Amino acid sequence: MEFKKIQLNGFKSFADKTNFLIEDGLTGIVGPNGCGKSNIVESLRWVMGETSAKSMRGSGMEDVIFSGTSNKTSKNIAEVTVTIANNNNEGPIQFKELEEVNVRRKIEKDKGSKFYINDKEVRARDTQMFFADLSTGAHSPSMISQGRIGALVTAKPTDRRAILEEAAGISGLHVRRHEAELRLSAAESNLKRADELRRQQEKQLSNLQKQAEEATKYKNISDEIKKIEAGLYYLKLIEIDKEINIENEINTEAESEVSGFNEKISELESSIKSETNKVTPLREKNIENLSKIQRLNLELQGLDEENTRIQDEITNIKKSLQTFDEDINRENGIVIDANSNEKRLKEEKSELIEIDSKYYETEKSSNKDLDDAKNRLSFEINKIKDLINSQKKR
Ligand code: ATP
Repeated sequence: MEFKKIQLNGFKSFADKTNFLIEDGLTGIVGPNGCGKSNIVESLRWVMGETSAKSMRGSGMEDVIFSGTSNKTSKNIAEVTVTIANNNNEGPIQFKELEEVNVRRKIEKDKGSKFYINDKEVRARDTQMFFADLSTGAHSPSMISQGRIGALVTAKPTDRRAILEEAAGISGLHVRRHEAELRLSAAESNLKRADELRRQQEKQLSNLQKQAEEATKYKNISDEIKKIEAGLYYLKLIEIDKEINIENEINTEAESEVSGFNEKISELESSIKSETNKVTPLREKNIENLSKIQRLNLELQGLDEENTRIQDEITNIKKSLQTFDEDINRENGIVIDANSNEKRLKEEKSELIEIDSKYYETEKSSNKDLDDAKNRLSFEINKIKDLINSQKKR
């Protein structure tokens, strides 16, 4: 694999998109102090997965974004893309078939870095591993920065070993081994945790088995209870059915009784109607009798008045008789003068006596008539009373 091109956009002093082509042979960058040569090497280290802001000569990683100049405004995004040609089909297995690999790193203010290999987002670790397999990388001894040569000459044996391993192309294996060791220790701790969890689960399982046994017992007992309850309900239903039948029979009897009562009521109503029809003339008769009684009472009153009048007349006649008697006595005193009138007076006297006896007879017959009338009246009254009582009883 060969580096072919570096593209910077908004990275450090490269505000605009800038391409650096790395052609066959030796490529050199020439320029005055402070023109940005070191920035290009740093961009290469940065795209390879550099994590230290300090080694990028900044206090934070966002310092790599173009911060603006007197005549250019600052930017929010910095991006570096390195193009690697793979004419010999080398490198990690997943990239062997590719003719060209583009590795891109992008940083955005407040959002952090993102890595892309052939426009597919990958982890920083994947990018670092890609370059480690190519025996290069952000901290590769083959990347010699300013003032690093002296450091390499005076390096410790361990650091020299790193240079040799880099030269042998096994630094990627070391990174992988380290990663595998980390994964292994993580897996071990996971295993321990899993073991602990297994033991807990076993405890829970035994508890759950006990609970399941109890639940099964409970289920069986509740099934039994349900069956018994169902039997009870069935018996109750049969009883209720019987009661309903009895109630229906009673209802039917009651209905027939009610219809009998209704018939009786209609009979009674018709008999009341016929009795009322019978009573109506009797009532009329009663009214008639009452008017008769009233009339008889009036007649009786008239007879009473007649009787009183006759009595008065008798009294008057008696008074007249007395006067006659007095006259006779006076006439007897003057017998001599009245001898001629004696006979006449005697005749008159006998006439008066006859009248008196006639009046006596009249009085006697009047009293008899009065008694008859009273008896007839009381008989009529009793007859009417009997009639009224017999109607009331009906
Ligand atoms: P020398 O030869 O002295 O080492 P050089 O050519 O390597 O210099 P660099 O050190 O790469 O130059 O570049 C430094 C320049 O980059 C400075 O002018 C500095 O202002 C500019 N610079 C660094 N970081 C940024 C940044 N984030 N935004 C804008 N310019 C920056």
